[in-house]
Amino acid sequence: MNNKYEIVVGLEVHAELSTKTKIFCGCKNEFGAEVNTNVCPVCMGLPGTLPVLNEKVVEYGIRMGHALNCTINRATKHDRKNYFYADLPKAYQTTQDDVPLCANGYLDILVGDETRRIGITRLHIEEDTAKLIHADEFGGTLIDFNRCGVPLIEIVSEPDMRSAEEAKVYLETLRTILLYLGISDAKMQEGSIRADVNVSVRPVGSKEYGVRVETKNVSSFSGVYNAIVYEANRQIEVLENGGELFQETRRWDDAAGKNVLMRSKEDAQDYRYFPEPDLLGYVIPEELVENLKAELPELPVQKTLRYMNECGLSRADAETIALSKDKAVFFDACMATGKCGPKLLSNWVLGEITRVANERRCEISELPLTVENLVDMIALIENKTISNAAAKTVFEIIVDKDEKPADIVKAKGLAQISDSSALQTIVDSVIAANEKAINDYKGGRTNVLGFLVGQCMKQSKGQGNPAMFKEMMIAAIENS
Ligand code: ADP
Ligand code: MG
Ligand code: ZN
Repeated sequence: MNNKYEIVVGLEVHAELSTKTKIFCGCKNEFGAEVNTNVCPVCMGLPGTLPVLNEKVVEYGIRMGHALNCTINRATKHDRKNYFYADLPKAYQTTQDDVPLCANGYLDILVGDETRRIGITRLHIEEDTAKLIHADEFGGTLIDFNRCGVPLIEIVSEPDMRSAEEAKVYLETLRTILLYLGISDAKMQEGSIRADVNVSVRPVGSKEYGVRVETKNVSSFSGVYNAIVYEANRQIEVLENGGELFQETRRWDDAAGKNVLMRSKEDAQDYRYFPEPDLLGYVIPEELVENLKAELPELPVQKTLRYMNECGLSRADAETIALSKDKAVFFDACMATGKCGPKLLSNWVLGEITRVANERRCEISELPLTVENLVDMIALIENKTISNAAAKTVFEIIVDKDEKPADIVKAKGLAQISDSSALQTIVDSVIAANEKAINDYKGGRTNVLGFLVGQCMKQSKGQGNPAMFKEMMIAAIENS
């Protein structure tokens, strides 16, 4: 990147909603079904059919609008965007033009050590198009209409991002919010989130925006990052060579790692938007809008900040938990018991528990491990009843069986020995058996202390309290 220039990015993000049925008909909304099986006259665009709006789509859109701090336009309407292409048998897409469901919001994201506020211009609901499958075998195109009529929300940001990294974080944050709200699978690899990336560059310090170029068809986080870097570099090169930039639309080719020109501004299409005559305008009840707002869960960025500020977790740990709904739900449930502190808990959630869930390719919520047993076990570590080593043994059991940690500790004799006379006997025998190490210590090589405490731990079969061993060992040597 040439540092004479600043990058300006705005994203248009499409997300498929995970409603049971499509937006204007009763066909199933599912990914991966056999081609052209979830179809009917409505979503195939046959003449004479009429759309019926799926209320869940409006509800999901409002949820997302609230999460993005938008104004909800209760009096809303739908419009036709007219164009002729094989992916849309009606020859128009039913979308929203001048009155989007939600508008004028923002999303705070965490980039590096900074909180950045990204403006949300609008969010509207619309239908997805059919999927075109280009078949090289016969040089033609196959059409799968299952995707036709799948509900989408389109979220348009202000040109408020200033780097590829920021755009990537913005998209990741949007994705996590969709998952927290439970309104989209948000699987980029299945195309449930797709982004159009708008990029311009301007000399550092300039107040004016440069000429915007839109790159379509970006469908992965790395794709968004690479598409922005590629396009910014292309624009800078043109400018540095004394050339001129034009407003145009380009297509991202992820495999090739570059974009190609699709169309320039001159041949931009005129979609001749007009109000959808087959759907009446309607007013969304205020109560519904308010209820959906009240139901809004705590969102990932707020969670990250809370974990850092109230629980004292590091930025990395806080974010790793908050960005995974599965981890966060479990962590919060444990914290809610009030039985253990956040530090050790986060270590277990991010360490052993995640390891086991990964090994078994399942969610933490699917493990037999209960919140109660885990917090009881952590409390036993915290009040020094068991050592970390003994806790591993307890964990191996409670991760599969609903047994009380205290019972396991008793049955297996795992309790840490903190009785000083029992520990003193061990310290004395270790001192007697390690004359050389003791002399080394007295001669100033104090790092042999670790070895000596290790010997004590070994004799106590891991059950001695290491901090007490250390203290008693120093005292014993110094008094000898
Ligand atoms: P269109 O429908 O033609 O793509 P929109 O106004 O719907 O136009 O979308 C514009 C998108 O481009 C928004 O995400 C906006 O933030 C972004 N944008 C606008 N101007 C610029 C600019 N100069 N540089 C980068 N992005 C821009
Ligand atoms: Mg666009
Ligand atoms: Zn249908």
